[in-house]
Amino acid sequence: MTKYNIKNKKFFLLDMDGTIYLDGELFEYSLDFLNYVKSIGGKYVFLTNNSSKSINDYIEKLKKLSIEVDSSNFMTSSQATSLHLRQHSKYNKIYVLGTESFKQELIEDGLNIVDEYTNDIDCLLVGFDTELKYSKLDDACRILTRDVEYLATNPDLLCPTSFGFIPDCGSICNMIETATAKKPVYIGKPNPKMVELAMEANGFSKEETIVIGDRLYTDIACGINAGVSTGVVLTGETKIEHLVSTEFKPDYVFENIGQLYKMLID
Ligand SMILES: [Mg+2]
Repeated sequence: MTKYNIKNKKFFLLDMDGTIYLDGELFEYSLDFLNYVKSIGGKYVFLTNNSSKSINDYIEKLKKLSIEVDSSNFMTSSQATSLHLRQHSKYNKIYVLGTESFKQELIEDGLNIVDEYTNDIDCLLVGFDTELKYSKLDDACRILTRDVEYLATNPDLLCPTSFGFIPDCGSICNMIETATAKKPVYIGKPNPKMVELAMEANGFSKEETIVIGDRLYTDIACGINAGVSTGVVLTGETKIEHLVSTEFKPDYVFENIGQLYKMLID
């Protein structure tokens, strides 16, 4: 269902890996597309479920690829989780199973974060922890023997690498679920929270907004859940045959970001 003409879009919520680059290498036309968005007075915001990196890590990464960005060009699952926690300030002590940079971001936002077990922890938060140690899993399972709030940044099972895949936050949560039979509430895509927060922060309407990404069950589902237009690019995880069976049908299908760019300037 095409709700609105794509040429009226001004607010582009973009996935990064598999959408504008792969393995740190930009796709052809990614820069042209981003420059076009700026030239029409629009804005691009990168939505990422990856909670192992901070906004500053991403700014540095994209600047190296010649993409003009500041912190307003990002909405990460870490930011959305932090906002969610601050809106629900009833938690006194939040145990974070995550990277040092993730914990630092939450501390800077004024949240009471701990990484050692105590029996008064009232919230467990799991991120994509690329610094995972067994003792953290032990702590998490112990915390879940009590009735606490259980949140996680993102449901992704796998994170792509140059050699294949590594386990992501969803896989860590699956290990914990096997041991405790408890599942977290996931804040990242496909939860519409990141899209809603990004529209609110930048003052764009649903009609002006489109989510572009390479994964149907996270990127496209997130846009659908938020009630905005969606476009899939076939340069990442989704292959054309997946579009037939999926319950998450995008409004647009692009072979690559270049095809979207050409459609916009045509
Ligand atoms: Mg992707």
